[in-house]
Amino acid sequence: MKVKTLAKQVATILGVPFSTRGFHETVTYIAERIENGQKTHVVTANPEIVMLARENRAFQSIVEQAYVVPDGIGIVYAAKWTNQPIRERVTGVELLEALMTEANKHQWGVYLLGAKPDVISLAAEKLAARYPNARLVGYRDGFFRAEDEEKIVQEIAEAKPELLFVALGAPRQDEWMVKYRDRLNASMMMGVGGSFDVISGKVKRAPEIWQKLHLEWFYRLASQPSRWKRQLAIPRFVLTVLKEKWSSRS
Ligand code: UDP
Repeated sequence: MKVKTLAKQVATILGVPFSTRGFHETVTYIAERIENGQKTHVVTANPEIVMLARENRAFQSIVEQAYVVPDGIGIVYAAKWTNQPIRERVTGVELLEALMTEANKHQWGVYLLGAKPDVISLAAEKLAARYPNARLVGYRDGFFRAEDEEKIVQEIAEAKPELLFVALGAPRQDEWMVKYRDRLNASMMMGVGGSFDVISGKVKRAPEIWQKLHLEWFYRLASQPSRWKRQLAIPRFVLTVLKEKWSSRS
């Protein structure tokens, strides 16, 4: 009999349980869950998200119940400093593209929600062209009124997408998905932040060399200086991780 040994696949960083699977394993794991009819809420968390969870109990509980993947080099370093086995980043935009490849293979239904109207229609157009066998069952922008929500939830529920990508900014995108999860009929739902802006071509991702040097965060800061306040979460995150590491030693 073949016994499947399950290595510990969770690394806890400041109270947030991260998956330790590498990028390809993550894609395979999520795809298998979809094929097995299991529902999954994926959160791609960077240091800013971890700090948000520390400060917001409701969001912490959402994150604890989700499948959290390490987006952001800060998470990979934090794991290293605390001797936990996270090898690499699993970024939102790359995971989205890899899951679209799976959707293309399996002819899954895909629904896109969020971003500005021109951005989401351009992103939908580009994804439909790149993944012609994925069924794009619907999309709409993320600037809707509260009274439109019911209609949006119904539209998604009727479309029964295997993949639901939501870009409303964090933590709102995850709060929104969790609020309606039981009615959405989506196998996998994932908040994708600024990914539609990148896919549409309206926002450029850092050139590869910056990514390789682990400086994507710096590129974002330099190209969108208005984010500096949000990025203060990064040094706060580093200090908190190191403080906890040192205090657990003494
Ligand atoms: N967004 C939206 N509705 C809103 C606010 C934001 O659709 O009410 C979209 C925004 O256009 C962008 C995405 O949410 O495409 C992510 O926004 P942001 O960059 O602020 O979030 P982050 O992922 O950096 O947290």
